[in-house]
Amino acid sequence: MEKKQFKAESKRLLDLMINSIYTNKEIFLRELISNASDAIDKLYYKSLTDSNIKLKKEDYKIKIELDKEKRIITITDNGIGMNSEELENNLGTIAKSGSLAFKENNEQKDDVDIIGQFGVGFYSAFMVSESVKVESKAYGSDKAYSWFSTGVEGYQMEESNKSDVGTTITLVIKQDTDEEKYSEFLDEYKIRSIVKKYSDYIHYPIQMEVERQKLKEGTKDEYEKVKEIETLNSMIPIWKKKKGEVTDEELNSFYSEKFYDFEKPLRVINSEVEGQYSYNMLLYIPSHVPYDFYTKDFEKGLQLYSNGVLIMDKCKDLLPDYYSFVKGLVDSQDLSLNISREILQHDRQLKVIAKSIEKKIKSELTSMLNHKRDEYIKFFEVFGTQLKFGAYDNYGMNKDELKDLLLFYSSTEKKLVTLKEYVDRMKDGQDKIYYSCGETIDKIDLLPQVEAIKDKGYEILYLTDNIDEFVFQVLMNYDGKQFANVSADNIDIESKEEKEQLEKKNEEYKDLFQTMKESLGNAVEGVRFTHRLKNHPVCLVSEGNISIEMEKVINSMPNNQNVKAKTFLEINDSHPISKKLKDLYDNNKETLSEYTKVLYSQARLIEGLTIENPTEISNLICKFMAE
Ligand code: ADP
Repeated sequence: MEKKQFKAESKRLLDLMINSIYTNKEIFLRELISNASDAIDKLYYKSLTDSNIKLKKEDYKIKIELDKEKRIITITDNGIGMNSEELENNLGTIAKSGSLAFKENNEQKDDVDIIGQFGVGFYSAFMVSESVKVESKAYGSDKAYSWFSTGVEGYQMEESNKSDVGTTITLVIKQDTDEEKYSEFLDEYKIRSIVKKYSDYIHYPIQMEVERQKLKEGTKDEYEKVKEIETLNSMIPIWKKKKGEVTDEELNSFYSEKFYDFEKPLRVINSEVEGQYSYNMLLYIPSHVPYDFYTKDFEKGLQLYSNGVLIMDKCKDLLPDYYSFVKGLVDSQDLSLNISREILQHDRQLKVIAKSIEKKIKSELTSMLNHKRDEYIKFFEVFGTQLKFGAYDNYGMNKDELKDLLLFYSSTEKKLVTLKEYVDRMKDGQDKIYYSCGETIDKIDLLPQVEAIKDKGYEILYLTDNIDEFVFQVLMNYDGKQFANVSADNIDIESKEEKEQLEKKNEEYKDLFQTMKESLGNAVEGVRFTHRLKNHPVCLVSEGNISIEMEKVINSMPNNQNVKAKTFLEINDSHPISKKLKDLYDNNKETLSEYTKVLYSQARLIEGLTIENPTEISNLICKFMAE
């Protein structure tokens, strides 16, 4: 018989399995049972619309047989089966198991982690087996096939005489070694406990033929061995178990198996809803960004079950986009299994359920925010940007839903705070929410414009995410308080007298400023004195809808829109440079022009902007130094 080769990446995973030093080898059974259960789900689902399938719900089962002497475990299901093509494609290559994709993205993680936490599917059988045989007959096909492999060298396929639709997997268990007692997997007791531990919720009976000692009929002390079929699992889905009956460990293990995540979820939401429609929801908030979250392959959605049977894997209508990171499932006995998937998507019931899921997620996040701030901050560091995009998206359609879940760094608290906390702390007479943008907290803290506002005792929110300022723009205000960028011209922190004084002075020196503006080739709207600076000589401020930071963000996008913020060069009149400029205006216009160019470049650099003429500026500075 011809030996076929595994695809390269499958070979790698297989190799990893066979040589695995991973101690938790027992999960192989969980993986095979889970595949069997999926296959039965598929046939069962088909049977709802295909009257040729004569099996009734109670006929579906998964059977485990042990042969201690021959070291064989067989696992049989009467699910949908695989034809020869499917056998090759599904078992010869890694289909959708997230493990390899994950591995490529996380080369630094070691193999042990991946096998342990991810669920690597069918190949995990090779952790405990010398050889694996898969015999399968697909529903609707008249021939059965078998697939056989002893490992990386390849696999063989041939026709098989299997008569029933479904799949039988035969494992020949490895010989014991000093480190590993593979024989224990041939133990009834061990198998029973593995099934209980990982597969208890599977909603088809997992049956094993067990030998029992029984009192011989008609005798008082004579025993005989009889064979009995024992159902190993309770078949109660994990989400239908009562609060006290399900442990966190079970919920977490279910999560890693179902949703291919190697880390524990940050939060589990397990609740039963009764009302117009009754259903259970089991939702997980991951503790990190899913590996494919930012790829085009990522699909949001929750699994949808009807009374314990999976009817849709990713029902996207159950989750709004801004909560797309949430994983989990919904199970309702009220959903009709017969409706086609298309109709289902528009079903009113789903809308009602989706609304209540959204509410539940929000209330969980809010409670985390209020009572477990550290945990919430961890969450926000991972998914905060997602929420901000949600608030900004569709012209702020969902801003009210999300605004209280957003956090921003506070200059006075030195940590992330909510807008409500900021507003509650506002000083008497303060009517604006001050903020400043920049690349990092440290850089913002050093901005000259920030200094003066801090000096007046105001709290400032430091925005470091590109999206932040756009969010403030759609929010427009919080609790009636407008947002004010400390680098904008309308910052308004002076008293009336101070303002009048400044206006007078600016009027007095308007010719000086006009000359300076011209020497910058009109790159700024104007030059003027300001009160917003304390120690620094100059700064750049913006006017209008587009701030300096927004100019940077918008222009860094792929469809370069080349927007420009309207900027003013502002000068600190109490800084010695101010007197110097006034002198130069009277005595040396050429040097005034050179000074202006250097000051403007400094203001740009402080804002994190580039300068267009670095050589010229460098030469000018050297010239001044040499004087
Ligand atoms: P996964 O279950 O993550 O897709 P596996 O490697 O475990 O990855 O299985 C690959 C594919 O092989 C499955 O998606 C399924 O299509 C098929 N398969 C595995 N076991 C069975 C089975 N018992 N019956 C029918 N199909 C199966």
